[in-house]
Amino acid sequence: MFKNIVSPIQAWLLSQGKCVGCGKLLSKADHQYFQSDLEKVSCKCGRVYIYDIKTKKYRRAMLNEA
Ligand SMILES: [Zn+2]
Repeated sequence: MFKNIVSPIQAWLLSQGKCVGCGKLLSKADHQYFQSDLEKVSCKCGRVYIYDIKTKKYRRAMLNEA
């Protein structure tokens, strides 16, 4: 059910700053303060990501972060 392994396509989409579910640009999604240097990004499709301000990279939120 719950895959923790990120597929190559998902990794590629994330490296482009896009949602792995719907392909929308995460830079246009809602950014909220999460903790120092991190922002929580909620895509319209319901997936949640963490944006690292220092590295300017997105990753999937862990279960305890969502
Ligand atoms: Zn999405």
